[in-house]
Parts: sequence; structure tokens; C-alpha cells
Amino acid sequence: MTPIRSFPSSDLRLFPSPITVSINLHALSSNFQQIRQWVPPPTKILAIIKADAYGHGAVPVAQTLEPLGIFGFGVASVLEGLTLRKHHIHCPIVVMGPLLPEHLRDIIDYQLTPVISRFEIFQQLIDLLPPSDSPFPIHLKVDTGLHRLGFEIDQAFSLLTGLTPASPVDIQGFLTHFADADNQDSTLTNRQIQQFLAFIDQAKRLGVHAPLLHMANSAGILFHPTSHLGMVRPGLMLYGYAPREKSSSPSIHLQAVMQATTYVAHLRSLQPGEIVGYNALFRTRRPSHIAVLPIGYTHGFPRHLTGVGHVLIRGEQAPIIGKICMDMMMVDVTDIHNPRIGEEVVLLGKQETREITAEDYAGWLNTIPYEVLCGIGGKANRIYIPQLLASSPSTALTNSEKDVRG
Ligand SMILES: *Cc1c(COP(=O)(O)O)cnc(C)c1O
Repeated sequence: MTPIRSFPSSDLRLFPSPITVSINLHALSSNFQQIRQWVPPPTKILAIIKADAYGHGAVPVAQTLEPLGIFGFGVASVLEGLTLRKHHIHCPIVVMGPLLPEHLRDIIDYQLTPVISRFEIFQQLIDLLPPSDSPFPIHLKVDTGLHRLGFEIDQAFSLLTGLTPASPVDIQGFLTHFADADNQDSTLTNRQIQQFLAFIDQAKRLGVHAPLLHMANSAGILFHPTSHLGMVRPGLMLYGYAPREKSSSPSIHLQAVMQATTYVAHLRSLQPGEIVGYNALFRTRRPSHIAVLPIGYTHGFPRHLTGVGHVLIRGEQAPIIGKICMDMMMVDVTDIHNPRIGEEVVLLGKQETREITAEDYAGWLNTIPYEVLCGIGGKANRIYIPQLLASSPSTALTNSEKDVRG
């Protein structure tokens, strides 16, 4: 037997990825500028790039936004924060997710800004902080109704009452998070705004003036101007989507940043009455042409898309038929003129006069654009437009990269 040929690992890049997710950084910058105009200075902007920037790639997104005049970035985990620091992002990085004691060392060493929601963490941070001239900035979260993270208001007061002037921490910000700001009915949101403002008043009476007050996510930014305060925290909007149907959103011009394409991998012609896919879910009613695409649920296209979703080929809609497989799916191309193997298929984005948006998927799948973007972009090998000089498509910290922390 001849031995298997060995090859340099760079050879692997010659294989096209079945799905191409392209990230338009011009659209990202433009969305940022739109938000900047909508919420003028002095209100600051904390760009939310958790979950690898909603599937768009946290490092390239941060590198694009950092020079545009943001206050900083919001991430969910310490690991996400470290990844940004490793890639030379120097602005404040606010870690919004829940913290454990073992996270605090990295928080201090890499100057991440923790959002504190628990007294134990607050105390442990103080115990760990080295003596220093400049107090360590933290943000305190209060719960005004979401009942996820955040101090209850009474707890927050007892913490503030116990603060000493010599405290090694500086409460740089107070924040809370909306539960329902995308709802047309703003009862709950108005109540949260009132509670937060009342809390801030009382904190002032205790002598605590946190310079940065923030509560508005994208929905708060668009629909609740009284929530803008000192800083806003846009996530979804940066990526080109509004948290409510376009028709009911105010006139702000956002552009989708993510586009996803694949190609026709195989073609079949079937007689009427033949089945397509697992469990005979689809049966042809006419002489049919079926295209097989090399993507499936592992690429973020859930099985629920069967029978409701479509893709674009030659500018026309090709319905998804048969159950979506792990790494393939079938589409009906009977009404499309002469599709070819290798031909471009648009999964998300524009082709000729038609467009498929993350909102379309959200409708098909009974979910929200957030989940669609994370699902499609999260696992893909992304390309960036314009091309990045020092490209770093994978932003996850590998184990060997974690060593830089030691
Ligand atoms: C995700 C998140 C945001 C951003 O929300 P969008 O709806 O995407 O704008 C803001 N604040 C917190 C605490 C978050 O977790």
C-alpha cells in the first residue's frame, strides 16, 4: 500500500467552505453612524459584541468600531473580554454576564470592567485588588424587573451605604436591563425607567454619583428616548436589524451586515409522486427538478425551515423541501430556468431584486433575528469586506492562546 500523502495544513484552505458568510464592515460602520446620529453626544455608546458579535466575529467588529468613537464594548464573559485584549483592543470592556470568584484575577489583570450583581463578588474583588492610587472601575447592576441579574434595589442601597471613601473600587456606572422594550405596549418599560431613575436619585442622596448611567438596548434606543441617559448599549442595531418589524420601527436606515451564500452541489429530476428526503416528508406533484445544497442544520439551518423557508437562485425563490439533513438540504428548482451545479445560492442577503433577511428566518422559525444571526454566523468561516489586513476569522481563544494569560 502506498502511504497516505502528507500535506502542509495550508492545503486545507483550498477546499471551499460549503457556506460563505460575508461580513460587510462598511455596513457595520454605517449602522454605527446612524446610531450616533440618533443618540447624539454626550450620550456614550457601549457596543454590544457578546456571542462573538452576534455571529459576526467580535475581534473584527471591535477593530472596526474602536476608532469610530465608542466608549467601549459590552461582552458576556471574561473569556470574550480576554480575547479582545489579546487582539489589542484597549478601550473599556464591560463584562455583563454573571461572574464567579475565579474570574476576578483576569478581570483585574486585563482591566476588564465587571458588572457586579452580587455582594460576595463585590467583596472578593475588593479583597483581591492591590493597593493603588486609582480605584478600579466597576458597574453596579440593579434589577428593575427582568429578574435575571442585578441587585434588588434594597440590596444595592445597603452596599452603597457601606462604601467608604477609601474604597479601592470606583462605581463608574449604574445599569439595569429591559425585559420588554420591544413591545408596542410600554407599560413594563416605563415602570423600569421610573424605578431606575428613582434608584439613581436615592443613590445621589447617599452621596454616590456614578458618572455612567445606562439601560437602553436597541429597543430602548429606538422606542424609549427617556432611557438614553449617559450611555446606550446597542447590539442588534449594529448588525442592521431593528428589534421590531421594520414597518413599526422609526425611520433609521440600518443595513444588514451579514450575508450567507452556498452553491448548488447536485441536481436531480424526479417524476410526479416521488418522495424527497428523510421520512418521505415531501412528495412531488409534478415532474420536478431538485437541487441539493451542501449545508444543513449543522450550519445553522434548523429542520423547522422545511416547508416554510426558501433560498435564492438566479434571483428566484427556491422553496426548501424535504427534511433538512445534518449537512445537506434540498430545494425545489422546477420553476427556475436551467440552474447549474456550482451556481451561487443566497441563503441570507440580496440576489438581483430579491432579498432574504434574518427577519424572514425569524418568521419562518418563530424566533428572533438575534438567534438567526448567531446560528448562521456563529460556526461559519467568515470573510470580511473590506478584507482585514491581519485577518483573524476565528476569535475564540484556544487553549494555547489562554497561556498568554499565565
Ligand atoms: C445583549 C444586551 C444588550 C444589547 O441588546 P440588543 O437588543 O441587541 O440591542 C444590551 N444590554 C445587555 C445587558 C445585553 O445583555
